[in-house]
Amino acid sequence: MNYLPPPLISSLQHVQGFDEKSFVEVHHSDKQVTSVRLNPRKISKNDSPHDEVKDNFFWLPIAGKVPWSDNGYYLKERPLFYLDPLWHAGVYYVQEPSSMCLEFVLKHLCDLSLPLRVLDLCAAPGGKSTLMAELLSEESVLISNEVIVSRSGILQENMIKWGLPNVIVTQNDPEDFLKLKEYFDVILVDAPCSGSGLFRKDPNSVKEWSPEQVRACSQRQKRILADILPSLKENGLLIYTTCSFSQEENEGISDYLMRQFPLENISLPFPPEWNIVETDSPQAKAKGYRFYPNKLMGEGFFMLCFKKQDGETGAGEKDRKNLKLKNVLSEIKGVQRSFLTQWIDAPDDFSFFLLKDRITGFPESSQHELRTVLSALKVIYAGIGMGKRIGNDLIPDHPLALSIKKNKNIVSEDLDLSGSIKYLRKEPLTLNGIPRGWILATYRHYGMGWLKSAGNRLNNYYPVNWRIRK
Ligand code: SAM
Repeated sequence: MNYLPPPLISSLQHVQGFDEKSFVEVHHSDKQVTSVRLNPRKISKNDSPHDEVKDNFFWLPIAGKVPWSDNGYYLKERPLFYLDPLWHAGVYYVQEPSSMCLEFVLKHLCDLSLPLRVLDLCAAPGGKSTLMAELLSEESVLISNEVIVSRSGILQENMIKWGLPNVIVTQNDPEDFLKLKEYFDVILVDAPCSGSGLFRKDPNSVKEWSPEQVRACSQRQKRILADILPSLKENGLLIYTTCSFSQEENEGISDYLMRQFPLENISLPFPPEWNIVETDSPQAKAKGYRFYPNKLMGEGFFMLCFKKQDGETGAGEKDRKNLKLKNVLSEIKGVQRSFLTQWIDAPDDFSFFLLKDRITGFPESSQHELRTVLSALKVIYAGIGMGKRIGNDLIPDHPLALSIKKNKNIVSEDLDLSGSIKYLRKEPLTLNGIPRGWILATYRHYGMGWLKSAGNRLNNYYPVNWRIRK
């Protein structure tokens, strides 16, 4: 039985690269593609599978490399990721392979050594944000935004697990970004879409698909793009992606953008052996890129890139001068910050602020960006959540345990697999000969969270709402 909606199949008949027979076949085969992206900023050299082709990364059974990503690997089967402490420690992210091609695009179109302001507008759960964050220089800032409150929590969680300090998580509507005119060097719009590209992974979602839904998505995508384009700098890069096969959400959006805005379409030199199909939009003949699951090892995906051509240079800067930089951000300076230095590597590279009653560390070089973003948007997380000050001590917060910048000399206890699972379930642990005080619980030396030892008692500080429940 064909579970693919006939109106979808007939709408694709004349789309470049569409081959009905193999497209239908691949949707009916049982073959599932599972892939992960390793965290290059966390993985120690000894564990890296790069130098020689290893069969396993710890116990992940590696089947091969994702061709367009330095750290993307196909797996032979899908393990129970939630039972792997390394997944909880942000050592890897489970990501569909087609999406990983964003890496090729950024490396090809941007000078990633420069300090860039980058926005991921539709970011939850954070697959592309984690990827962009690891590619940017330490002087760059990534604003990772999710408008839907109920989805912003998982975005925050995944960004904390990834552990990079130069990230700000916001929860705003695209039109709120009008306060940051011509601010960003790069904007990614990974738009909400009708989702036909993921039917193979989630056949149940077919029930929600309809031609009306495609039209509604297309309208919403245009609104989102019109709202966010003023925030892109002149010569800035707009990347638009969907996981839909429908032309109205893909090449149709290209035509809309070319009609309405001064944008230059950019073509991408994907090597032909990757089998990514280059398409032309019906009117403007703008280049777009289709990922068909019957042509490559990945799900359905679409991508467009544009350079913004207009813009009144400096206009955004003038506007931002009118933003009242938030006073709530009180900086901890001089000797007052000395108690923090034992917790973080290279503390001089950081500014520390008091946000409500918690201390946040943010890269010194980008502290102005944090103030600007705080003045304009609803920030739900930024930098490294360090903890709370009590006298001259710090009660460390969970994000510090997952941060790549935590001090290497923090007292730690490396747990075995069953101890780690107990820890991640927030169950009580008993360990002998543990010194009093805060202890970093690690698995294979990767930080998972905090324990506090009171000599005869050990308290498990794993966040209650992150614990393994199954
Ligand atoms: N970029 C994410 C990743 O790689 O993990 C996936 C993003 S998903 C395709 C699209 C996101 O857009 C969803 O999280 C959804 O909540 C959000 N969204 C829904 N309506 C939106 C709107 N009107 N404006 C901006 N984002 C919206």
